[in-house]
Amino acid sequence: MTTPLRITVWGEYRHENKNPKVAALYPQGMHETIAGFLRAQPEVSVRTATLDEPEHGLTETVLAETDVLVWWGHMAHGEVRDEVVERAKKRVLEGMGLIMLHSGHYAKLFKALLGTTCSLKWREANDKERLWNIRPDHPITQGIGEYFEIPSEEMYGEPFGIPTPDELIFISWFTGGEVFRSGCTWVRGNGRIFYFRPGHETYPTYHQPEVQRVITNAVRWAKPTVCIPDVCPNSPPIEALPEDPERQFRSTVGHK
Ligand code: ZN
Repeated sequence: MTTPLRITVWGEYRHENKNPKVAALYPQGMHETIAGFLRAQPEVSVRTATLDEPEHGLTETVLAETDVLVWWGHMAHGEVRDEVVERAKKRVLEGMGLIMLHSGHYAKLFKALLGTTCSLKWREANDKERLWNIRPDHPITQGIGEYFEIPSEEMYGEPFGIPTPDELIFISWFTGGEVFRSGCTWVRGNGRIFYFRPGHETYPTYHQPEVQRVITNAVRWAKPTVCIPDVCPNSPPIEALPEDPERQFRSTVGHK
C-alpha cells in the first residue's frame, strides 16, 4: 500500500462569513469545497486550516505532516503572522509543494518565495475567462482540452509582477480584451510551486469540473521528491587530506 499524499488546504475564511453571496456558493467555506473534491481522489489524506485558528492552523506539526499546501487568501493577507509565513516558506524550500490560488498572488508567502511585487490589473465585471492550455504534455493539464471557459470571473491582467515562470501552463483571455499568465510553475529550493488564477469568491469557480481537475492534477505534480532541511553542516573529508593542504598547493605551483 502506498503512502497517501498529505494535503493541507488553507483558507482565509472571511468572505464566507461576511458576504451572503459567497456563503451561498460555499456554505462550509471555499477551503472545504476544495478539500471535498480532493478527498474524492484515491490515496490522499486531506486536512483544512484557516486564518482564525491558533497559528492559523499551520503549526510546526501540521506543516511537517504536509506534502502539498493549497492556499486561498484575499482580504486579510496582512493578518497572516510573519513567523507562520517563514515556517511555511522553510517547508517549501525543504521540498513541500505549494498551490497558490487566485488572490493568493498577494499572499506574504507567495511574495516571500518569488521575491517580486506579484501585482496585476483587475476588474470585477463578469468577464468570461478562456484559459488556453499551452502545455498539453504537462501533468497539470491532463484531462483538459485545448482550452476551457469560465462563464463569469474577475479579470486579472498583465503585467503580472512575477519572475519569469519556469513553466507557463495556461494563458487566459478575458471578454474585456486582456490576457494573463494564469497557470505558472516555479521551483524554489526543493519545493514545486504552481500558481492558478481562477477562483474569485463571488463566482462558483471551484465547483467547475475543469478547475477541480487542474487543482487535483497540480497537487499530484507538486508532491515532494526529497526533504532537505536547511542545516548547513560542517563536513568531514571523504578521503584522507594532506597534513597542510596549503603547503602542498604552494609546492604544486612552484613557490617555497
Ligand atoms: Zn478575486
